[in-house]
Amino acid sequence: MAKIGINIATGSLQQAEMIVGIDLGTTNSLVAIIHPDTKQPVALKEFNSSSLVPSIVHFDGFGNPTVGEQARTFLETDPKNTIFSAKRLMGKSYQDIKDNAQFFTYKVIDDDTASLVKVQVGNQFFSPIELSSFILKELKNRAEHILKTPVTKAVITVPAYFNDAQRQATRVAGKIAGLDVLRIVNEPTAASLAYGLGLRQDEEKTIAVYDLGGGTFDISILHISNGIFEVLSTNGDTYLGGDDIDRSIMEYWLTEGGITMEELQQHQSLLQSLRLKAEEAKKHLSTHDHFSTNWNGEVLSIKRTDFEQLIIGLINKTIKCCERALQDAKLTIAAIDSIVMVGGSTRVPAIKQAVGAFFGKPVNDSVNPDEVVALGAAIQADILAGNNKDFLLLDITPLSLGIETMGGLMDVLIPRNSKIPTSVGRQYTTHKDGQGSMRISVYQGERDMVKDNRKLAEFNLTGIPGMPAGMPKVEISFLINADGILVVKAKELRSGIEQFIEVTPQYGLTDEQVEGMLMDSITHAKDDMQTRALVEATTEAEQILAVTEKFISKNQQLLTSEEILATAGAMQALQLAVTINDKNLIQNKIEELNEISRPFAERAMDAAVSGALKGKSI
Ligand code: ADP
Ligand code: MG
Repeated sequence: MAKIGINIATGSLQQAEMIVGIDLGTTNSLVAIIHPDTKQPVALKEFNSSSLVPSIVHFDGFGNPTVGEQARTFLETDPKNTIFSAKRLMGKSYQDIKDNAQFFTYKVIDDDTASLVKVQVGNQFFSPIELSSFILKELKNRAEHILKTPVTKAVITVPAYFNDAQRQATRVAGKIAGLDVLRIVNEPTAASLAYGLGLRQDEEKTIAVYDLGGGTFDISILHISNGIFEVLSTNGDTYLGGDDIDRSIMEYWLTEGGITMEELQQHQSLLQSLRLKAEEAKKHLSTHDHFSTNWNGEVLSIKRTDFEQLIIGLINKTIKCCERALQDAKLTIAAIDSIVMVGGSTRVPAIKQAVGAFFGKPVNDSVNPDEVVALGAAIQADILAGNNKDFLLLDITPLSLGIETMGGLMDVLIPRNSKIPTSVGRQYTTHKDGQGSMRISVYQGERDMVKDNRKLAEFNLTGIPGMPAGMPKVEISFLINADGILVVKAKELRSGIEQFIEVTPQYGLTDEQVEGMLMDSITHAKDDMQTRALVEATTEAEQILAVTEKFISKNQQLLTSEEILATAGAMQALQLAVTINDKNLIQNKIEELNEISRPFAERAMDAAVSGALKGKSI
């Protein structure tokens, strides 16, 4: 039942439970909703201020955080306690970021390990998840203040290249901020939605989304069909954006004034004010031909034509990335139906022109480029809220689905976050001679061993005709239909026998349980990897032992007694390694056994081949 509330400020009726769309950006973040009256997406802002909240957290002497515009003023004056670009650290270890360590003016703990990074402020330590949660909490508070209603549900956007760990980290940040994150959406997908692309069910399109923000550049090629967005490729530069444009203007002025950047760095407040002037100039030049101002008792000015010269290199770099993205998607420029411009920096006319010229088409730039992602997130939120019934509800699988293979390993057929409907097939075979049936156990979860996952169903494929191990071709296919029902089918391709079963994967699972299963997979990632490696080595060893034994008993006449003895010794050593569960030892012993058996296996092969050739007349 939907609850109805009254907006105290306007007196209008509104839904009590509003799902908001959030763009959690590297430089700026913001919240958007679908306006209950106009049904159009709008970015939330307080009277007379910007909708953008700088993604910056400043900690005072007591360790209390302030977020946004206020925190921004401390960037130059209190850099050690002012955290910007926390998004760059999401789901990263120090090893991942160490090449760019000088970028961060605050303390990123450099333990040089593979564990996730933390930021040190005074004697406190913060994870990027916590830092992002401060920003999300501020956005939530602002939204509640403006809407005069509680905000507890959100759709949050992330870059298309974010991996599972980074998406999960974003979800957790939302949770800490008191937000139920209903969906994580790709930024380029949200931007396309804001332009109405992909909203018609029968629409099929290929879109390029060019996103130049404050410090990052992303180009994504998307394919939309039947309301499903598929990312064909992504490219970009994680250290290229509006900040670089500002820096080039500063350098231009400094060169004119005969001052070096190093000299200026001695005067933090002058440096900061010059940076602000440069950004002001850049923005002004997006709509004017000339900019001029007073700074430190001097007149600074720049013409648009000179400015455009300064950033030619930067623009060309982004175009190179577009070329690469097209190559990776195996597409030509002609295949792109629409180009969507995202990010504050795409307001620069020279950039729009260059992108339009490259793709040979006018670009979509009618929606405010720094709000477009949040607006699209709001559209997605509205669809989830069930307010937009015409639109196919795109759903994804929250947990991976797979079957049990040798040694109790989970073999994933449909990874988590796959869009549904979807189907996949994979071939398996028997491991015993004459094996007449095969047990198919279907599991759900993220752990490497099936025993740690949730069993959904089990059935036997029987009546496989007697064949040597490895001969039968059993195709297992998973199909999830639009209602979320999973059909698992097993078919032996040589004989045509088949069997299938239907299950509802989400049946009886609460959101908390799904969340718990995901968290478990993160906590146990390392153990799981080790277990998987051991099980794989053991399975390989067992197969090799079985094959070798069969080989020896069949081909005794081809071998010398020394060879038989040496092989038996190596087999025994391998068996022992398997018994004591030592992965490295197993691998060594497999190698040793292979070394011994390789020469006579080759000899036997030659004998078999020449035997076979003799029997045939060519
Ligand atoms: P992000 O996605 O990285 O959070 P945004 O999309 O908010 O970043 O873009 C921020 C960048 O856009 C800043 O570098 C800002 O200076 C730049 N920007 C904003 N308005 C303009 C403008 N009118 N002309 C040029 N650049 C602009
Ligand atoms: Mg952005």
